[in-house]
Amino acid sequence: MPMNKGQRDLEIHAIEVLEDNIIWIWVCGNKAVVIDPAVTTPVKEWLKIKQLDLIAILQTHHHNDHIGGTNGLLKVWPRAEVIASKDDIDRISFQTTSVKDEDKISLLGRPVEVLEVPGHTSNHLAYYIPALKEGLSTPVLFSGDTLFSAGCGKLFEGTPKDMYLSLKRLSFLPDNTKVYCAHEYTENNLRWAYSLCPNDLAIKKKLDEVLEKRATNQITLPTTIKIEKNINLFLRAESIEHFTELRENKDSWIP
Ligand code: ZN
Ligand code: FE
Repeated sequence: MPMNKGQRDLEIHAIEVLEDNIIWIWVCGNKAVVIDPAVTTPVKEWLKIKQLDLIAILQTHHHNDHIGGTNGLLKVWPRAEVIASKDDIDRISFQTTSVKDEDKISLLGRPVEVLEVPGHTSNHLAYYIPALKEGLSTPVLFSGDTLFSAGCGKLFEGTPKDMYLSLKRLSFLPDNTKVYCAHEYTENNLRWAYSLCPNDLAIKKKLDEVLEKRATNQITLPTTIKIEKNINLFLRAESIEHFTELRENKDSWIP
């Protein structure tokens, strides 16, 4: 039986680009929202084939592998809104909707909450779309380069404390939240986690699952908050000190 449209889960597609970036496209009817377009062409072509109108671009942070395709898309869809951190107006100058922590915007008929999650960069944002009604749809998080499956972003601008608190904050989202990360780093992250915790059954099981998927080039995302609380050592860290050690360990780990 067809469900009421609004009660369905969000329709989200993946486009894999560059080395390991994933551009997520949220589609509703004939409209689309693109998250962190690293490049223009594959997104433009995909939207054209599907005959979709690009209404907005969400930017999590200013790195080129997240904003590099935005201007090219704006040439084709000049009315598309570009949502980005107001504190990054200098680095994401083409933003049209400047947002900050806890702002709520509306996209494709759904409320989108802005979460400031510094660490990877000082103004990194994540975007959270809550469930319409408990049990009727699944909440969604676009986590950019803050939370990866079994990992987290490198600390380019923030302190370990920043990232620790950002991850803590995300860990309080509902367990069933689907997490759409901006990179396919899962295998590498899990190999590292397994090297540190070879007796951890949850990590071992996930690694096996991920290796099987990667053997046929399948994407391992989205993940969920529940899964990450189980397998992500950074989310499991119990103190800033512990988190700092883990981050340093991962940064110097050679696969
Ligand atoms: Zn980045
Ligand atoms: Fe990135």
